[in-house]
Amino acid sequence: MFRNGVSKLVDNPSDDICPVCKSNRYLNPSLQFLINPECYHKMCSTCVDRIFTSGPAPCPVPHCGKTLRKRGFHKAFFADLAIEREVDVRKRVGAVFNRRHDEFETLLDWNNYLEEVEGLVFDIVEGDVKTRTIAEEKLRMYKEANKGVIEENTRVGLEEGELERRREKAEREAARQRRLAVLREEEEEKADMLKTRQSVLDRLANEDVDANTIAAQAQKIILKKTSARRALKDIPIQSNGSAMDAGLTIRGLKKKEAPAPEKPYDPFGGLDLTPARYVLQDHYENEWLGGAKKDTRHMAGGYSLQEYYARTMFEAFSGLGVFIEDEVTDRNQQPQAVVAPAVETAAAVQAAVSKTKFERNMELDDVF
Ligand SMILES: [Zn+2]
Ligand SMILES: [Zn+2]
Repeated sequence: MFRNGVSKLVDNPSDDICPVCKSNRYLNPSLQFLINPECYHKMCSTCVDRIFTSGPAPCPVPHCGKTLRKRGFHKAFFADLAIEREVDVRKRVGAVFNRRHDEFETLLDWNNYLEEVEGLVFDIVEGDVKTRTIAEEKLRMYKEANKGVIEENTRVGLEEGELERRREKAEREAARQRRLAVLREEEEEKADMLKTRQSVLDRLANEDVDANTIAAQAQKIILKKTSARRALKDIPIQSNGSAMDAGLTIRGLKKKEAPAPEKPYDPFGGLDLTPARYVLQDHYENEWLGGAKKDTRHMAGGYSLQEYYARTMFEAFSGLGVFIEDEVTDRNQQPQAVVAPAVETAAAVQAAVSKTKFERNMELDDVF
């Protein structure tokens, strides 16, 4: 019913007649139409004053009956009231579903979210009464459930707008300064030129030197001054640019710092696996391996000799530095600290003896 009402209004060719009091623009050129977002039935401002000044009243358009208040009326921005309504709905939904791109893990999530919001807007704008009620209910529930997030995002949005405005202002100011500097420079150059010319004339009049020599000297002076000015000009522009760049970069960095980048997952819990008792070489001289290095049957499959070296060296050294007697003594001294009897490495023994010390070591060794 509501939809039909709107389209009937839109299709109405006599847009200049108030549907309530039937006065038209021909008789009353100052006639102004107002709408209320409750039902989007338009009527003239005189009717609004007459009907709604004494308080809320039902819409006078036949079969509407929505209760309207005077302060809800405003001038329609769009001639097509269907568009006016859709824009209002979008504003209302956008104020609630105001999540931001950087809140989503992936682009797909963000796009799915946008699609969902778009679906909701479509349901409210184009749906029948039932669909619209469901969509409105969804909107209301989301608003209640995400009050904090919505407020936070509104605040962030306002702040960003403010930052953007400030940046634009600074840019405009910088451009103005540059223009002024160029103007000033041109004036200086002109004045300089005049001065030089005057001095040349003076010299020609007073000194007894060849005119060509004086002219050549004057030319040289002008050239020198111009190049000096160019050099001067280049420096401030460069520093200015980098300073501005620096300002922008800092702002960008700040933004990136906010979500605190997640550290890559470390399956060893910070344990340093760099061999402590030997340094792994890239190459070992070995007769037995000499052939394998050049043998395409080994190398074509992607087999790496480095892997072999690492494993062999690890196995050769793995038993060193483990003193079982000491471990047994330690275990007997502090039986409560030893959790599992299978602790075998020096680091593990250390951990068993003093847990805090080991943790400190781990922090030092943590390369991530
Ligand atoms: Zn009227
Ligand atoms: Zn109405």
